[in-house]
Amino acid sequence: MTSISNRLQAILSSIESAKQLAHADQTVQLLAVSKAQAAAAIREAYAAGQRQFGENYLQEALDKQTQLSDLAILWHFIGPIQSNKTQLIAQHFDWVHSVDRLKIAQRLNDARANNSSPLQVCVQINISNEASKNGVLVADLQATVATIAKLPHLQLRGLMAIPAPSLDLSVQRQQFKQVRQCYDNLLALGYQLDTLSIGMSDDYAVAIEQGATIVRIGSALFGARPQ
Ligand SMILES: *Cc1c(COP(=O)(O)O)cnc(C)c1O
Repeated sequence: MTSISNRLQAILSSIESAKQLAHADQTVQLLAVSKAQAAAAIREAYAAGQRQFGENYLQEALDKQTQLSDLAILWHFIGPIQSNKTQLIAQHFDWVHSVDRLKIAQRLNDARANNSSPLQVCVQINISNEASKNGVLVADLQATVATIAKLPHLQLRGLMAIPAPSLDLSVQRQQFKQVRQCYDNLLALGYQLDTLSIGMSDDYAVAIEQGATIVRIGSALFGARPQ
């Protein structure tokens, strides 16, 4: 039987192989995406050494945080954000990857004001330029980042993207390349960034090749999500 622990070890070693194959020298962290998984599954991954978990739905995450409050987990919010959820997200998470508009950044900043440490954030970019998708359009990225970088209770760490899914890895590679290009442009402008949050269960090796520093992996670790 394949346990979460076995799969965790397998993923960590394939992250290393992907780095070697691509001669990539960045640090790559595994974010375990635990949406729709029971608290017991998170506990199992934690016992195997995993410390960073990503959740998409606020209420579900808060319930699991209560059940797991004895563990030293670093919680990342990675789902779409409605503005009436920013208060709780800012108070109950260490990281937010899905900051996709200024209003959300401003509200997260204000809600974090009483916390001793800034909220670690990534700006989500809409690389496929689909109107229906979340994320800042590439054309608006510089202006958005300029404003977010000034917010005192947020620490801007980098960029996150969820490219349109494709079974063709060369299409994924091209999309990740574009994200990397945006990231490099911001570095060239002098922003102190260290995080490129790209890559999921089916394409993380390609994301690592293109410079991912955080890969967000759910089903490859926990198995198919329960309905
Ligand atoms: C669900 C989800 C993932 C993980 O997807 P898998 O294909 O199960 O690895 C990663 N990032 C985001 C934003 C997600 O919503």
